[in-house]
Amino acid sequence: MTSGERSRGRKNLVAARVRWNEQADELIEELRSLARPRLIVISGPSGVGKDTVIEQMRLRHPEYSFAVTATTRPRRPGEIDGVHYIFMARAEFEEARARGEFLESAEVYGHLYGVPKDRVRRALRAGQYVVVKVDVQGAASIRKIMPDSIFIFLTPPSMAELMRRLRGRKTDDPEALMQRISTAAHELRRVYEFDYVVFNENDRVEETLDKIDAIILAENSRLPREGRDV
Ligand code: ADP
Repeated sequence: MTSGERSRGRKNLVAARVRWNEQADELIEELRSLARPRLIVISGPSGVGKDTVIEQMRLRHPEYSFAVTATTRPRRPGEIDGVHYIFMARAEFEEARARGEFLESAEVYGHLYGVPKDRVRRALRAGQYVVVKVDVQGAASIRKIMPDSIFIFLTPPSMAELMRRLRGRKTDDPEALMQRISTAAHELRRVYEFDYVVFNENDRVEETLDKIDAIILAENSRLPREGRDV
């Protein structure tokens, strides 16, 4: 082999290494783009602590966007229109629903609830995680439209504790309370429709938040199945 041939051989090798490195960098970029913002669906029976958990998430993650649910139910003391809920008259709600403006909507205990689509989509496009609170039926509807979301079911430590929390909230008369408990028992049976179950243990809301953070972190590190070379 002449010295000219040796030099060409070395150059080819260097060129090949540069190509491999470039390809590897492309792969690294592709991997980075997998961790895109998603919709986080927080569900579970009434009284389990969804609002409490989401209130704390607001403090811990001001960078997240929190979808505001529209409702026809009367405003409770302390609730702010546009912050906790968007309060609507029934006719107004029904018109918006007919125009297909809700991601999901449902009638619960005689009141209509719905998550407006536009705010959710806008926030996701802007690169924000979006957190949405819905009942179990609502979660099932969202799964049909946005199956890529992360579905989390909050569970009470026991039915007795759920009853205690509902009583403590003092928003229901005894009949409504019994209705909620019986609905909760049915809803629990749909837990397997979700991706994750999180126990909201007694007086350990911070721990519940840690678990949700861990889920999001793990989801961000997960590789799609179709990318596997098997
Ligand atoms: P949801 O939004 O699921 O209906 P709330 O957030 O209104 O439930 O909570 C119902 C009641 O339970 C509230 O009085 C709340 O303070 C209480 N609660 C929530 N999480 C916990 C917890 N981890 N331990 C004890 N009580 C809780």
